[in-house]
Amino acid sequence: MLRSADCGSLRAKNNGDQVTLAGWVSRRRDHGGIIFLDLRDRSGIVQVVFNPETAADAARIAEEVRPEWVVQVKGTVKRRPEGSENPAIVTGDVEVMAAELNVWNRSLTPPFYIDEDAEADESLRLRYRYLDLRRPPMLRNLTLRHRVVKYIRDFLDQRDFLEIETPILIKSTPEGARDFLVPSRMQPGNFYALPQSPQQMKQLLMVAGIERYFQIARCFRDEDLRADRQLEFTQLDLEMSFVEENDILDLTEELYTGMIESVTPEKKLRKPFPRITYDEAMDRYASDKPDLRFGLEMTDVSDLAGESEFRVFLSTIDGGGRIKGFVVPGQAQFVTGQVKELEDVAKSAGAGGLVHIRYRGEGPIGQQAAEEIVQSAGLRMTAEWHQRLADRMGAGPGDLVLLMAGRQPRLNAWLTVLRTHVGELLKLPDPDELAFAFVTRFPLFEWNEDAKRWDSSHHPFTSPDDGQEGELDGDDLGAIKSKAYDLVCNGSELASGSIRIHNRQLQEKIFEILGHSKEETQARFGPLLEAFEYGAPPHGGIAPGIDRLVAMLCGSSSIRDVIAFPKTQSGTDLLFDAPTAVSQSQLDELSLRIVEQPK
Ligand code: ASP
Repeated sequence: MLRSADCGSLRAKNNGDQVTLAGWVSRRRDHGGIIFLDLRDRSGIVQVVFNPETAADAARIAEEVRPEWVVQVKGTVKRRPEGSENPAIVTGDVEVMAAELNVWNRSLTPPFYIDEDAEADESLRLRYRYLDLRRPPMLRNLTLRHRVVKYIRDFLDQRDFLEIETPILIKSTPEGARDFLVPSRMQPGNFYALPQSPQQMKQLLMVAGIERYFQIARCFRDEDLRADRQLEFTQLDLEMSFVEENDILDLTEELYTGMIESVTPEKKLRKPFPRITYDEAMDRYASDKPDLRFGLEMTDVSDLAGESEFRVFLSTIDGGGRIKGFVVPGQAQFVTGQVKELEDVAKSAGAGGLVHIRYRGEGPIGQQAAEEIVQSAGLRMTAEWHQRLADRMGAGPGDLVLLMAGRQPRLNAWLTVLRTHVGELLKLPDPDELAFAFVTRFPLFEWNEDAKRWDSSHHPFTSPDDGQEGELDGDDLGAIKSKAYDLVCNGSELASGSIRIHNRQLQEKIFEILGHSKEETQARFGPLLEAFEYGAPPHGGIAPGIDRLVAMLCGSSSIRDVIAFPKTQSGTDLLFDAPTAVSQSQLDELSLRIVEQPK
């Protein structure tokens, strides 16, 4: 037996127990001949004492050991003397009086401290990930991730879902992002792709009569890594037959609520999750993934703005744009410098400028003196107009109003940047709160200005909204809504899904609108279309991302902190140094030749 107890398990009640411990030396202190080692294993840390008078051999070895050596200690648990307890650790009431110390392995001096704070540079942490993962916060993150996935599996198992694996080597059917390709050795010149998601396969499982499928699925997208993304990520992929949108949303809500209450009960979870349409989200928050922890809701005031002689407003309206903004309650005292800062934020988001109005007086706005209403240069509106604006926007004395002018969808994008910034500036979002919402009724298509064609806003398998199929032949495709939905939380998208098309003709019609030729459709989606002719049930699903959810529950700002071996922003694995060149013989076997890129 290499050990009889876990370091982190020892308490006052173990007083007198003979134990064998195993683990890593976290710290060593020498107090006038008596040596203290903090011994760490996965369960925690306990203090071990080496007294040269009672255990001379062990004390001599203890003098030599250094941090991260891996050792075995045999000894007796003792209550610490009164006054020397350490309330900072759970084992702080006791220490282990060592009788024997065996060194299993030495360690080089680690490149950073193995402790709570990650002060080391992240690239160093990734390069020595096995040391980084020894740090308690990283261990906590991986443990929480395990709990989340275990909860999901148990929850879905209880509801009759089957966990089914789908292949990693599939046919390349680009879904929006770029595929990762894998050359076939046995069929030179041909390639597999790695799945961007198991979308078509889970739909085929519905045709196969599985009815309730899920998988903790790895997905691969060869994208330039923006912000906090990884080339490979994990999602809970699920699909159900004989369901409508609300069935999927109810199940998802129940899953998330139960999971969060079980895994992170300390989080403040808002229940029930509001369900708002895409149009409402865009109108009220200028975003399809609004942070609902705070207000700062939008109002469109284009008609009122049109009454002014303010050139920016008038030319925007003429050009088909809108004037929209929000009230910042109680912030009329913002000084010029602060307003200027907000203007800079708006401009760096791409906006032409920012109009601000400060109602500094105390009485009704319509009766405030001209100098009490501070308005952006050039606006020059009467108190009466301001009263109407304030009524519309819900502003009152003491409030600051911010307005932007522009065309959609860019206007909403600028407003979102500004709303988020103001929210953070005023510390409005509570970091312990989780405000989920479902956003529903997304547009079926979105216009791709660069390519001059319609793209699916979700993916091409998404069903149009009830009663709108007829409009697929019309010329206002942008007005068609879909049965796609997202789950959002605190300003991030955590899941998306939809009720699917299960009819061949309708599915072909969508591909046609998306600009795929008959041949292309056949080559890329032939099997799914064919399957639809063999009794495809109505079905739908959702795919919640696991990485972002766990990061949110851990309070980590980066998903890399909840992935054991993540890649960097540039897609590099710093531990194994991938990607790398391969040998000529490997290339030959695959019938591949490297074409030098011009420098
Ligand atoms: N396959 C979709 C995705 O990865 C999710 C879904 O529609 O279920 O975004």
